[in-house]
Amino acid sequence: MPTFEPCPYCQAQHANKVRFTPWGGVLGPAVFSLVKCEPCGKHFNGKSGSRVEKAIRLYTTVSLALLAILVAFMIHAFCAGDRPAPLGPHHPVITAQVLPPAPVPLT
Ligand SMILES: [Zn+2]
Repeated sequence: MPTFEPCPYCQAQHANKVRFTPWGGVLGPAVFSLVKCEPCGKHFNGKSGSRVEKAIRLYTTVSLALLAILVAFMIHAFCAGDRPAPLGPHHPVITAQVLPPAPVPLT
């Protein structure tokens, strides 16, 4: 079992690796070497022995920002795609372009 730095909250030496958190999924805990103190149940960085509140806030802020950018990009791509412009009587040129060709008289 790997040994971690003592807990920054209660100085206990017993900590377990955290594999998943609601805020970071499986990536967040791996990035911060996150461990959970057994006696007090708090999370901290098992490698540096430092608290992770700031890191968690940064991580969630960054991932939320990335998510927002991604969503904005998807909305933009969806709205500005190759869909034809909405047709209507106030769009005579566009309407003329998408009208089917005049029927050819049968011979
Ligand atoms: Zn502790």
